[in-house]
Amino acid sequence: MPKRNDLEYKAFQYILNNGEQGVLQSELWRILGASSREGSRIALKLENKGLIRREKELFDGRWTYRLYPKRQPATVDSIIDCPCLGCSESVKCGSWAPVSPNDCERLTEWLMGLVIKQSESLGDS
Ligand code: SF4
Repeated sequence: MPKRNDLEYKAFQYILNNGEQGVLQSELWRILGASSREGSRIALKLENKGLIRREKELFDGRWTYRLYPKRQPATVDSIIDCPCLGCSESVKCGSWAPVSPNDCERLTEWLMGLVIKQSESLGDS
């Protein structure tokens, strides 16, 4: 049987990789080769650390939990359209430089677009 810390790490990686889809607790332990008792302890530990959230779910007539990561790691996709990536001013841009992100209209517009997208997706759920 794998060590508990290894299992905890592997469980968290698996939960992270499933993202918003989540993973059934029982399925996760089966995949990782852990007992349900060991798995429940690990899930509680990850939840107590603030890394995951558990939501009760009825599956095949039995109550179980679906596990979701609380945060998703940043991806390149999340910044692929950031105006700074192709900006001709980026070499001389800095917080205290003459060209600054503090008052850049293009950056502000891009960030506001992200905020609007985020609030729309929260409104949909
Ligand atoms: S903050 Fe504005 S000026 Fe600076 S690199 Fe980004 S887009 Fe260019």
